[in-house]
This record gives sequence, C-alpha cells and structure tokens, in this order.
Amino acid sequence: MDKIVSVAIDGPAAAGKSTVAKKVAKALGFTYIDTGAMYRAFTYAVISKGLDPQSELLSNSLIGQVNIELLDDGTVLCNGEDVTRQIREPLVSGNVSYIASYKEIRLALVEMQRAMAHSKSVVMDGRDIGTYVLPNAEVKIYQMASVETRAVRRYEENIAKGIPTSLEDVMEDVRKRDYIDSHRAFAPLKPAADSVLLDTSHMSVDEAVENVLRIVKEKTGVEGKC
Ligand code: C5P
Repeated sequence: MDKIVSVAIDGPAAAGKSTVAKKVAKALGFTYIDTGAMYRAFTYAVISKGLDPQSELLSNSLIGQVNIELLDDGTVLCNGEDVTRQIREPLVSGNVSYIASYKEIRLALVEMQRAMAHSKSVVMDGRDIGTYVLPNAEVKIYQMASVETRAVRRYEENIAKGIPTSLEDVMEDVRKRDYIDSHRAFAPLKPAADSVLLDTSHMSVDEAVENVLRIVKEKTGVEGKC
C-alpha cells in the first residue's frame, strides 16, 4: 500500500482554500475534506432547531445528535438532509464562527476529521488543521490573500451560486469571522510554525495549485497530475 500522506491547508476566510484544495486533491488522487463545511452544517442544525448559536450551552446540547456526511461530489448532508446550498447562506456564515469557538463542539468534529485522515491520503482545509487536527501532516500550507481580494472573490462566488449578498456585507462577514477565528481560546486560526506561507493575492487559481503541488513534491516526493 502507498504511504498515507496528509496535506493541510489553513488560512483566513475566503482565501480560496477550498478551490485550490479540491484541485490539488484531484491532481494527487487524494480525498478532499472541507472542515469548514462541517462547522457550517453544525451551525445549520443549531439554527434549524430554533436554538441560539450564540449560546454555547444550547449549541452544545446537539453534540452527538448531528450526523454530518461529506460526499465525494461535494454534497453536504446533515442528518440525511442535503444542506450543500443552505450552509453558504449569510445566516449560517454570520453565525458559524460562534459555533466554531465552542471547545466541546470542536472536539467532536476534530475526532471525525482525524478519523477521516487516518486510513487514506487527504487534502484537508480549515483553520487549525496544521496546528491541531493533523499536527504531523507531511505538508502544511497557510494560504492567504488581502482582505479586499478575498471579499471580492467570495462575493463573485456567491453571485455565481445565486446567493444574494452585497460586497460590503461579504467584506464585513470576512473581517468578523477572521477576528473571532483568530481570537478564540481553543485552536485559533494561526499559521503552524512549520507551514509554508502562500500569498495568492496576485495568483490565479492554477498558479496557486501549481505552487501547492510543487511543495507537496518537495516534501513527499508525490507528484500530482493536472
Ligand atoms: O472554511 P469556511 O470559511 O467555510 O469555514 C467556516 C467557518 O468555520 C470559519 O469561519 C471558522 O469559524 C470555522 N472553521 C474552524 N476550523 C476549521 C474550519 C472552519 O473554526 N478547521
């Protein structure tokens, strides 16, 4: 059996991590795991039960009752319901960072994430993958871009998906999430000491993918086919 390799891609909101991670995973023949979608699905479950996501106590009460599945085609299921689109809506985006700051919920989702990476090679994107979820990952990338670039990219993505938002609201959401994500007590957003910084402000998606594949090859010898 081939050696199991983990590629961790962390960074602030809307830095293009999932777009790059998906393409890198495809080129390497690895499984792509979107951990942000898991926090989003949990947030969706809290809101759809009528609970306040800003209450840690109430949100924690759903631990063990939320079954999240990430399908290979990108579909996200929450207790069997297809929530792929709903988890990108402003209501979920505006609340997910509160849910992600609750330690007990993180521990439950991290356990699932580690199990997913245990028996197969993965490209996993998130905020704490290189620092906490997979500290022994062979490759750690910290992908970033200026806040303006990130807001414009996310705004254009939302428009393409038919999710109505304004550029100002997206910018505000990105700034707020970055603040909460990097200031929370447990497993905050920060570059792992051994990560490679990748600033994609002036890079196309293909250039970012080529850079990540080059780093993977340097660190592991595994070569991707685009
Ligand atoms: O990656 P995405 O922007 O979809 O993630 C949504 C939110 O989930 C982030 O803003 C962050 O609050 C949380 N998150 C996290 N840790 C991860 C992945 C996402 O805290 N590993």
